[in-house]
Amino acid sequence: MLLLRRVCFLLPSPSPRAPLAKPLPLLLRLPRTLPSAARALASMAAPAAPAGGTAAMSRDAFRAAVTNTLERRLFFVPSFKIYGGVAGLYDYGPPGCAVKANVLAFWRQHFVLEEGMLEVDCPCVTPEVVLKASGHVDKFTDLMVKDEKTGNCYRADHLLKDFCKDKLEKDQTLSPEQAEEYNKILAILDDLSAEQLGAKIKEYGIVAPDTKNPLSDPYPFNLMFQTSIGPSGLSPGYMRPETAQGIFVNFKDLYYYNGNKLPFAAAQIGQAFRNEISPRQGLLRVREFTLAEIEHFVDPEDKSHPKFGDVSDLEFLMFPREDQMAGRSATRLKLGNAVSEGTVNNETLGYFIGRVYLFLTQLGIDKDRLRFRQHLPNEMAHYAADCWDAEIECSYGWIECVGIADRSAYDLRAHSDKSGEKLEAHEKFAEPREVEKLVITPSKKELGLAFKGNQRMVLEALEAMGETEALDMKAKLESKGEVEFKVCTLGKDVTIKKSMVSINIEKKKEHQRKFTPSVIEPSFGIGRIIYCLFEHCFFQRPGKAEDEQLNVFGFPPLVAPIKCTVFPLVKLEKFEVVAKKISKALTAAGISHIIDMTGNTIGKRYARTDELGVPLAITVDNTTSVTVRDRDSKDQIRVEVDEVASVVKEVMDGQSTWADIMWRYPTHTASAAEDEAEP
Ligand code: AMP
Repeated sequence: MLLLRRVCFLLPSPSPRAPLAKPLPLLLRLPRTLPSAARALASMAAPAAPAGGTAAMSRDAFRAAVTNTLERRLFFVPSFKIYGGVAGLYDYGPPGCAVKANVLAFWRQHFVLEEGMLEVDCPCVTPEVVLKASGHVDKFTDLMVKDEKTGNCYRADHLLKDFCKDKLEKDQTLSPEQAEEYNKILAILDDLSAEQLGAKIKEYGIVAPDTKNPLSDPYPFNLMFQTSIGPSGLSPGYMRPETAQGIFVNFKDLYYYNGNKLPFAAAQIGQAFRNEISPRQGLLRVREFTLAEIEHFVDPEDKSHPKFGDVSDLEFLMFPREDQMAGRSATRLKLGNAVSEGTVNNETLGYFIGRVYLFLTQLGIDKDRLRFRQHLPNEMAHYAADCWDAEIECSYGWIECVGIADRSAYDLRAHSDKSGEKLEAHEKFAEPREVEKLVITPSKKELGLAFKGNQRMVLEALEAMGETEALDMKAKLESKGEVEFKVCTLGKDVTIKKSMVSINIEKKKEHQRKFTPSVIEPSFGIGRIIYCLFEHCFFQRPGKAEDEQLNVFGFPPLVAPIKCTVFPLVKLEKFEVVAKKISKALTAAGISHIIDMTGNTIGKRYARTDELGVPLAITVDNTTSVTVRDRDSKDQIRVEVDEVASVVKEVMDGQSTWADIMWRYPTHTASAAEDEAEP
């Protein structure tokens, strides 16, 4: 959820603190046996000596190779392309849709099913009152600057970031002090106010990148798409910028559905809309995207988690705010220690950090290019107890892909206040408890005489006083007999006399405690995760021709868009019959596959499906047995026709690995005809 703060995004790469002398070479390994997805640009930060068959590539060249393959194979393409496209809008094509569906299916399995969450599905069109209460109408903004002559718009923090990165990467004359200053700015960019950003833009003489014209001062731009609901135009609304509000406004019903018990979590997957000032970086900053959000409601007095022990031994890269401010790098921490030492605010927040780590790494995100970065003080909303972003490193740098925030009771309180509906939970006591309670009793008669038509506003303001304010008023009324009191709804102070209100602390027996739950919110940007996954899974290997590089997406079976291909080796009817039989068995086993009867060389067909990331290929070269080829190692085994669908299923379901299967079946040596060829 983005609220009351700017969108936090892209940290400088590879570390915001280390000056980047020049783009780092990227190592594309040529694996025989590839460990899951952690291959491709295995080490952007550790340029080891190239081994045989290893090609070094710049970040830009690597990105170009990935996006070219993605667009050519229709993973995703710019929307409305035949009309020139619209910045920040993309279509997923068939393999992209399949990857997305797999990621979402695993999300449902890993979170909704495994944690017993309540899934909901709410509308994208949202009435203004909801987003007014949540704070989005007033504060869902980014700071924008305008080209003073052309009116072109830019995100102020992006310009400052690009300037600092450029200086660090390209300016050979930079002194150590200047480098330190630019690195410091990059580290605290999300912390800067409009005034501070404006001052730095002026100090560095930053101008409009396209025209070199001067820029305006930064000012807030609301990112929501406005609309109106119904034909009258009288009912303003917005396209939701997040899915969370749909869950908050349903809290009362969901709590009841859950048997009036806490903790519980609700989840929602859906489209979110943000009118980004300058969409860029492909799928990473778009104007419409899929969010998957969890709102875990918990007693603010007990944020322990019964399953924390399941994740407490996990160790991964964490980047606490003190380390960021001091210019240190992220370090590997044990999650249990991070919580017990107070680095992470509470167990439930820690539990979700651990679960997010497992989710991302099981999808195929490289654990060495995943870190959890804590929000800086100003980056975090004032009401939030603690926030961490799961950031994934790709060719664009470190990208925020999942936000995990303890938002305290802010959202439910905001909607309670605006709607008048009490969004509370209660805890029944085993034994009644004696408690001291503040009781404020306004005198309607006296208030009516004194304030006439404004009586209700004054009365409500008195009743809404917090304990400190009320006790302060009591003391003043007792010593002076009257007190000045600000009534916000009237926009002025009124004089309250002793006869108008009685304020007492009374002892009461209570059978239950009522409270507003805190909410812990993991919020997943599905498109960003998918793009990073594409990069982490991509690698190249030499083809037959000299200098030829073949592209491979080494997706784990879980996310692979198509699990298997079936090819007759040559165009013969008897092989086609077998291929169709195997296809039928694969369909019955629920394995997505393609059957290719084109008669192209088998090498060409392998190369094409490698580009789609298909893990296994069945080649029909016989009527009783067939070969099965592993995409990553290119090893082949021979399996009986009647057995092959269940063998593929075993590997795709994760019951066996390719290595396990290799032990059980005879290996098959590829003929020259089966060698890789250009796609
Ligand atoms: P936020 O509410 O800003 O914390 O965003 C929640 C998640 O949505 C982030 O962690 C990102 O993964 C994703 N996200 C935010 N803005 C965009 C965008 N413009 N394009 C794609 N994903 C986004």
